[in-house]
Amino acid sequence: MKPAASILLVEDEVNLAETLQLSVQKLGYQVIWAKNLAEARSELTKKRFDLMILDRNLPDGDGIELLTHPLRKKSLALILSSKSALQERVKGLQAGADDYLPKPFSYQELAARLQALERRRPEISVEDEKVPDLWVMNPDTQQVLSPNGWISLTPLEYKFLSYLIERRGTIVSKDRLLKDVWGFSFLPKTRTIDYLMTQIRKRIEPNPEAPQFLLTIRGAGVKFNA
Ligand code: CA
Repeated sequence: MKPAASILLVEDEVNLAETLQLSVQKLGYQVIWAKNLAEARSELTKKRFDLMILDRNLPDGDGIELLTHPLRKKSLALILSSKSALQERVKGLQAGADDYLPKPFSYQELAARLQALERRRPEISVEDEKVPDLWVMNPDTQQVLSPNGWISLTPLEYKFLSYLIERRGTIVSKDRLLKDVWGFSFLPKTRTIDYLMTQIRKRIEPNPEAPQFLLTIRGAGVKFNA
């Protein structure tokens, strides 16, 4: 017996999400619910999912974006969307979905389709199950692998971020950053670091308003938390 398949449910309508979660759990799946793309990307950094059920009209984008996410890792994907026109369904399947069920839908059909997908579950290796190797830096392309995919950085952003990633988990004072990253021997009163962090967060954080990786530690400095 395979262990219960895990499902990432991405759906912003709360009532529908709750009903979906219950009915899918009854079928024997473990379900994690994400109400937008940011939460979904964050969940993908924590574990691998066997299946994804993706809404398309989300507050921060189209669920289709998750199909090409570098951390999808052999997840099968079913799109569940009110975008039901033929060209939308074709677009979803061509973008990498394994199935497409238009809303409104019947729970009986959803169950049958999930079970059909289940039969196609690929073999998963130990390597696949590993928590993804995020925060790899590529000095040749000045890119970093973040929960949002490979992100291109400016030379200064790259220097700043790699400095912090090398020291992950430890608090680095802003004085030290200005000295080591900017090469300032005197310490100007500057918002440079805050500005740079805002720019980087917009791209590497699943939710830049509530950063989980690049953190400001009030009164102490900056920490890369991963
Ligand atoms: Ca929606």
